[in-house]
Amino acid sequence: MRTMGLNRLDLVAPERFPHREADAMAAGADDVLAGARIFDTLAAAVADCRWVMGCTARRRSVAMDEYPPDAAARRILGATAQGPAALVFGRERTGLSNEELMLCHAAVHIPSVEDFSSLNLAAAVQVLAWELRRESLAQVQEDAPAPGPVPDEPPASAAQMEGLFEHLAQTLDDIDFHKGRAPDRVMRRLRQLLLRAQPDQREVRVLRGIFSDAQRMARLARGPGSAE
Ligand code: SAH
Repeated sequence: MRTMGLNRLDLVAPERFPHREADAMAAGADDVLAGARIFDTLAAAVADCRWVMGCTARRRSVAMDEYPPDAAARRILGATAQGPAALVFGRERTGLSNEELMLCHAAVHIPSVEDFSSLNLAAAVQVLAWELRRESLAQVQEDAPAPGPVPDEPPASAAQMEGLFEHLAQTLDDIDFHKGRAPDRVMRRLRQLLLRAQPDQREVRVLRGIFSDAQRMARLARGPGSAE
C-alpha cells in the first residue's frame, strides 16, 4: 500500500500486533505500521468515514451494489473530496462476515474466475491499491476538474447512517410494518436505497424526525393501556 501512496492503515481486532513478522514484511514501510490504528470493531473503525467499500471474493445473496476495481477506485477518490473513505478487506481465511459487509456502503469484487475466486489478502490489497494509484495518476494528467461547490451541510457519516438504520428498523417494528415477515430482507433493501441517496446530516435529522413522529403515533394508536 505504501508503494501506491496509501498511508492510513486501520486494523480491527488483530490477533497479534505489533509483530516482528509484520515489521519484516513491511520492508521499510515502518511508518505505515507505526501509524496503524487499532479498533475493536469494524463499526468503530469506519465511524468517521463518508464512504465505505468492502472487498469480497464471494458473490453473496446480500443485495448490495457491487463495483469492479476500477470503478471502485473512481468512486473512492470522488468520495475523498467530502471526507475519509475506507476500503475494507476481510480475514485471510474467512473473509468478511455478512454483518461486516452490511456495514459497507457497496461491495468491490475483483472479477476472478468463478470456481477459484479468492485471492490472497495481500494480492487483493495490491490490486485495489494499484487501481487507486492508476486513477489518481489519470486524474492529475487530466488536470482534474475543479471540485464542485462546497455543500452547505456535511454528508452523513457511517455512524450517523447506522443510527438512522437502527431508528428505521425500530420504527418499522413499532408501526407493525413486517406483519410476521422476516425484517432482514427489507432492511437490507432500505439500507442500499438510503446509502445510494447519500443523505447529508440535515436530511438524516429530518428522516429521524419523521420516524420519531411515526413512533409517537403508533404509541397513541395502541392506546393508553399499552405498556410499550
Ligand atoms: N475465504 C474468504 C477469502 C478471503 S481472502 C472468502 O470467501 O471471503 C481475504 C480477503 O481478500 C477477502 O476478505 C477480500 O477482502 C479480499 N479478496 C480476495 N479475493 C477477492 C476478490 N476476488 N475480489 C475482491 N476482494 C477479494
